[in-house]
Amino acid sequence: MTGILLTQALEILHQNCRKIDETEYVSIEEAVGRVLAEDVHALIDQPPFPRSPLDGYALSAGDTEGASKETPVSLQVIDEVFAGGFSERRIVPGTAIRIMTGAPIPDGADCILKQEDTDYGMDTVKIYTSLKPWQNYCFAGDDYKKGMTVIRAGARIGAAEIGVLVGMGSTSVKVFRRPRVLIMSTGSELREPGEPLGPGQIYDSNLHMIIAQMRIWDMDISAYSIVHDEPDDAAAFIREHAGQSDLIVTTGGVSVGKKDIMHDVMKILDAHQLFWKVCLKPGSPTIFGLYEGKPLIALSGNPYGAAANLHLLVRPVLAEMAGRPDLMPRKVRAVYDSGFLKSSKVTRYVRGVYDNGHVKTTGSNESGVLSTMVGCNCMVIIPAGSTGVEPGEEMDVLLL
Ligand code: AMP
Ligand code: MG
Repeated sequence: MTGILLTQALEILHQNCRKIDETEYVSIEEAVGRVLAEDVHALIDQPPFPRSPLDGYALSAGDTEGASKETPVSLQVIDEVFAGGFSERRIVPGTAIRIMTGAPIPDGADCILKQEDTDYGMDTVKIYTSLKPWQNYCFAGDDYKKGMTVIRAGARIGAAEIGVLVGMGSTSVKVFRRPRVLIMSTGSELREPGEPLGPGQIYDSNLHMIIAQMRIWDMDISAYSIVHDEPDDAAAFIREHAGQSDLIVTTGGVSVGKKDIMHDVMKILDAHQLFWKVCLKPGSPTIFGLYEGKPLIALSGNPYGAAANLHLLVRPVLAEMAGRPDLMPRKVRAVYDSGFLKSSKVTRYVRGVYDNGHVKTTGSNESGVLSTMVGCNCMVIIPAGSTGVEPGEEMDVLLL
């Protein structure tokens, strides 16, 4: 098989895409999954006031000296304070204030005694243990102090990040713009679901599979369409929408048949082709080029060929453009329970299900077969030159 190695293809892709540095503000409700464009500094101390970490009594440690079950110390309870409330009273020697978790610690108190170590007294309380100053005392700013960097630029916003942002009262956040992807599937045989199938026609799987994958990867979609095997129509669609797109992904028409139109499309667009064919199975005849400086990746139309190369080639490009290293698939070693008996001249990617150090294949690995991709979470990498893999051999596996 002719073509360049995957490593070479990835290097060319890397040389020809760049991180999107445009930014925008989004509301906290829309921020999950986005990449922070600037460091986040705490707007306030967290917590904003010293607060009780438990239900008990606020008091002065000096009053608890020598206290034990046998020799309890009695203190006068002068107030009661709950979360959301505030006590005007001040702890002076011989006094305590009943306090609940989350309530502000009254002035003069330097520790909190948990209620289980008392007789739960209302007017006076017997305390059964001694405390040191600042024991069970949660200071203002214990979590973070105003001005501290709490999240770094480049971090992807997950649930904890949202919690921290909202915890300091943020309502919006500055993030990088997401890559906008133009998706086009080519083929005169392709129909949209809902349309009747005529002779020789099939429903288009790739278009919506790729749209779904973009949603999963948190990418924006600038435009999408099925285009018949008419090079002028395909070129026109790309030309119309490239301006609002950062990346163009197409499927079909990249092989050597009479209707493999993407070669002509590249010419009509005057796109700069950087490679055609990567030495791997499935989906080797990928074309990569630049149209008006924008990366254009034309994948094979065979659904598994398209799916596999979406992970192998498109995903690294999007990871780089979006500033999302987390998007890169992880490689692990796993015991190949099913094995793979065919020999492989070039590196072959076999879909499978990875679980706890073991991987199984799901059935046919033909590039035109998509149903065996259902439930898959990995691809087993069968190295070039393999004469077959015995069940139980350890392999490199790409987690998807
Ligand atoms: P092509 O890469 O255009 O030569 O197509 C290879 C095979 O994949 C053919 O059998 C096509 O009918 C099929 N195919 C192409 N595009 C799609 C698509 N979008 N959805 C499902 N099958 C497709
Ligand atoms: Mg075709």
